[in-house]
Amino acid sequence: MGVHITFSQNFPYYDKAIRETVQELNSLQRNCSVDMNCMFGENGIHLVPYPAQFAVPLFPEKDKQNCLAELKERYENKSDVRPVTFEDWVLKNFGPTIHDSFFKPYMRKIWTIETSKMTPVWVGSRVAKLPQEKLESLCAMNKEDLVKADFGWGPNAYFTYPKYGGIGAVWRQMAEKLPENWFKYNSKVVSVNYHSKSINFIENNNAIIKTMDYDILINTAPIDKLINETKLCLPLNIVHNKVFIVGVGLELPMTEFCETITWLYFPDPAVPFYRISFHSRYDEVTPDNTKYWSVMCECAREADDPITEEEIRDQAVEGLILKSIITREKIVSLYSKTLNYGYPIPTIERDNEIARAHAVLEPLNIYSRGRFGGWKYEASNQDHCFIQGKELADRLFLDIPEKLYKTGLPEKRG
Ligand SMILES: Cc1cc2nc3c(=O)[nH]c(=O)nc-3n(C[C@H](O)[C@H](O)[C@H](O)COP(=O)(O)OP(=O)(O)OC[C@H]3O[C@@H](n4cnc5c(N)ncnc54)[C@H](O)[C@@H]3O)c2cc1C
Repeated sequence: MGVHITFSQNFPYYDKAIRETVQELNSLQRNCSVDMNCMFGENGIHLVPYPAQFAVPLFPEKDKQNCLAELKERYENKSDVRPVTFEDWVLKNFGPTIHDSFFKPYMRKIWTIETSKMTPVWVGSRVAKLPQEKLESLCAMNKEDLVKADFGWGPNAYFTYPKYGGIGAVWRQMAEKLPENWFKYNSKVVSVNYHSKSINFIENNNAIIKTMDYDILINTAPIDKLINETKLCLPLNIVHNKVFIVGVGLELPMTEFCETITWLYFPDPAVPFYRISFHSRYDEVTPDNTKYWSVMCECAREADDPITEEEIRDQAVEGLILKSIITREKIVSLYSKTLNYGYPIPTIERDNEIARAHAVLEPLNIYSRGRFGGWKYEASNQDHCFIQGKELADRLFLDIPEKLYKTGLPEKRG
């Protein structure tokens, strides 16, 4: 549900676990672009290489000159002021033209809140800066090479994907290596009794409530739900969005310009997706890939947006047609799914709020980790969540401090 590629971010333990679990992995080179049609005043698609901020030399002349002047000013007058918001961070590093033409509309689509309401603490390996030497080398390239360039930036320039079974194959096969009775699928925890150290749960939507004891509870359900249920502190002021996944199956041949692309980004508010990916290029799972190909759209909305999955699905199909990625008559199947928790949003208040939760949970031997259990976007991909689990086990059993996940609490807390 979502792109879900895996790539090495310097976690050898994770890389080894994946390799030992999945026998047949495809290795792919990323080839992605950004649709900057709005900047060019066009309705259709106008691709520039990823990341968009590296494509300044390809921007329309006026925007290009503005960007260059704003960047020059930043290189010459370096400021020590620490940005408070993500908007401040972009303005400090790039200037208003790139902010207004790319970051603001794109971030609004993926995060569903304004850049001025987000903290910049997550940007680290997620948003490329543009050092002066890099900009100079880009400006020296000829346009033809530039249009085709992948700037090789970021940890996912190369990635892997299971040949069979989708990304779920990794986790299904990993679970199969472990004792079966460690897992209890299709069960829902309905309450946590932290005094008696037990949880109540139901199985298969059955009304009968069962109980299970614990010594240590590791929670990977959303931490806001855990706090609301246990009422161990006041509700958390944290924000998430939801993501609609829309999958479209199509008859071959694939649209020609998509044949070499792995995924595309869309800041354009006229289409509902912020990203689309061509999963039929990643693996062998597309049913009868001698006849069909597929495209998957990810569309983010505020958690309480009343739009329905059907409406988003229709908009996504129209958007794909508008962007010349598909034609209606080639569609053979449509799939959609709503993920009520899509992205844990890095708001300004987030770290204090999450620390407030850990401060009441950890003394009771409840540890909340993972994408929504830990709520730190910058550490919420599959590799991060896997390593969070390993490091927490190492901390609990071997007293080795966690390195990846920061609770915000003092390290030694007895
Ligand atoms: C749209 C999207 C795109 C993504 N793309 C990528 C990518 O390209 N690469 C990448 O590495 N990662 C990606 N991720 C992140 C990846 O999904 C997460 O890293 C991974 O799923 C996190 O695992 P987790 O165990 O923390 O949480 P989850 O996978 O969310 O697992 C938590 C589990 O808890 C269960 N649960 C919740 N409440 C209860 C309850 N009361 N009782 C019992 N169970 C409960 C949920 O059903 C869920 O199964 C993406 C995520 C999304 C949403």
